[in-house]
Amino acid sequence: MSSVDKQLEQLQAEIENELPSDITVSDVKYEGPELVVYTRHPKEFAQNGDLIRKLASKLRKRITVRPDPDVLSDPHKAEERIMDVIPEEAGVTDLDFHADTGEVVIEAAKPGMVIGRHGSTLREITKEVGWTPEVVRTPPIESSTVSNVRNFLKQEREERRDILERVGRQIHREEMSKDEWVRITTLGCCREVGRASFVLSTPETRILIDCGDKPGAEDEVPYLHVPEALGAGANTIDAVVLTHAHLDHSALIPLLFKYGYDGPIYCTEPTRDLMGLLTLDYLDVAAKEGRTPPYESEMVREAIKHCIPLEYGDVTDIAPDVKLTFHNAGHILGSAVSHFHIGDGLYNVAFSGDIHYKDTRLFNGAVNDFPRVETLVLESTYGGRNDYQTDQEDSEQSLVDIINETHEKGGKVVIPAFAVGRSQEIMLVLEEAMRSGKIPSMPVHLDGMIWEATAIHTTYPEYLRDDLRDRIFHEDENPFLAEEFNHIDGGEDERQQVTDDGPAIILSTSGMVTGGPIMSWLRHLGSDPESTLVFVGYQAQGTLGRRIQTGWDEIPVSDPNDPGRSSTLALKMDVETVDGFSGHADRSGLMNFVKTMNPRPEKVLCVHGDERSVQDLSSSLYHDFNMRTFAPKNLETFRFK
Ligand SMILES: [Zn+2]
Repeated sequence: MSSVDKQLEQLQAEIENELPSDITVSDVKYEGPELVVYTRHPKEFAQNGDLIRKLASKLRKRITVRPDPDVLSDPHKAEERIMDVIPEEAGVTDLDFHADTGEVVIEAAKPGMVIGRHGSTLREITKEVGWTPEVVRTPPIESSTVSNVRNFLKQEREERRDILERVGRQIHREEMSKDEWVRITTLGCCREVGRASFVLSTPETRILIDCGDKPGAEDEVPYLHVPEALGAGANTIDAVVLTHAHLDHSALIPLLFKYGYDGPIYCTEPTRDLMGLLTLDYLDVAAKEGRTPPYESEMVREAIKHCIPLEYGDVTDIAPDVKLTFHNAGHILGSAVSHFHIGDGLYNVAFSGDIHYKDTRLFNGAVNDFPRVETLVLESTYGGRNDYQTDQEDSEQSLVDIINETHEKGGKVVIPAFAVGRSQEIMLVLEEAMRSGKIPSMPVHLDGMIWEATAIHTTYPEYLRDDLRDRIFHEDENPFLAEEFNHIDGGEDERQQVTDDGPAIILSTSGMVTGGPIMSWLRHLGSDPESTLVFVGYQAQGTLGRRIQTGWDEIPVSDPNDPGRSSTLALKMDVETVDGFSGHADRSGLMNFVKTMNPRPEKVLCVHGDERSVQDLSSSLYHDFNMRTFAPKNLETFRFK
């Protein structure tokens, strides 16, 4: 008998000991980080409201109780009873019964009403029908990504359960080594922006954190093949942790499965969905540009199948000696500061991922409160000593002024924006400005993936800033449903129509004018001196956006009817830049993140910034806070214990 089987047998005995005699346990299993308890008496379990919580704290495990398949009631009858229990205002849109696990997945517009106070309605459901309810939100704006991911996971349910069971046994395997050390190896994003990737290792465990591409330098990928990473075989990696879905952190995650990796990816639920959206688009763009994509779309599906979603604040065993906790990073939807607790109090490391320290319209600022942390691995995108951003309030005023001036001239405002994050932030600024009369009400057209990304945001309001979340919960206050917003889904004809119509604002991808529908908007409006092009995001060196920003007024455009032919367009529209809408903390944000961090770490590794930024930030943190700081290069290994 394996050590895990022995462990499960002991756990079953312990649980039986704690339970009243009328409740029996038929099986216990690990599924990923969770302990699943099967019982012939699910209703009695639910009647003892506190039982699961007590067991969880006694055994120090996350516990799910499921009915033994033998005692399941008929789904048709159960459905009627469930609908009686759930208040009608919850807006249930789907019930899905899974006899293999005794779970019923309830999709509802208002999940909170299905859950009830402290889970009371959920318990009521189990008391009535014996099935274990699980609740998901019906997206307030239809999202093909969310429904594709949900349908795919439903279809792959059985295989997913096998994966979870295998991962669960891996996590709870016996510790083999008596040694105690902790190391971090840098595989990318050191003294550069892009290809984020690290390995955190202990004698027991190897964890890969992020695996991104480098925009504009597609052949520069993380150093995955060193012995510390995949060099010793793809499955010497125990777990992958993804801080957020931006491609410079996620693009090459699916590639790991092509290399034979078969383990879990820990991320938040929105990160999983956004990774699906962005990596599929990444493959699309590569194909359109005539590059050979590094992997096929099948690998994106593999990645999604292996995701184990965690919520902010969940302390989760991901290896025999490592616990992971995600905290809000304030950067994009689902972005997470990832905190690792190693050994039993041996060492603590936090990886910031990308952070925004102050509150924005979309997100609460990044969390920097931890039970313990000795080492911080910190992004440094705007770490240079002059990298200060304009205050959000001033930036918003500038944007409002530009829109009013353009409106008076009778022109249109075109804003190139990234689909995820910045677009939604700008949408909120525009919605508020129109509602309060700072700018006239006019159509705001959303082109490219922006609408789809917005739909994903509204599916996960609990990841948004508190007051925004509350507004989304009330359908009539959901700012993303404002009547001014229009999704461009009719292609060129609709763009021509918008061009011919009156004043409007257009938000379109790509954010750095490197392709996508923004090219079409430039063809339509580029020669109109009354209209204005407004940059609200970072324009990287070498992109068309940067060139226009620095004064180019003749730009190459391709013929929509014959993409092979290109001509030159004389750019006559006004060009403006409004900074301050970045998703990254600026210099003062990064300094304050560390200054107010609780507890203050002993060591900081400054990464994810160009040479000057990481050096500046590293030396300032050392001088101001008297801590040990480093600006590592790629392929360095640090020993911390
Ligand atoms: Zn990012």
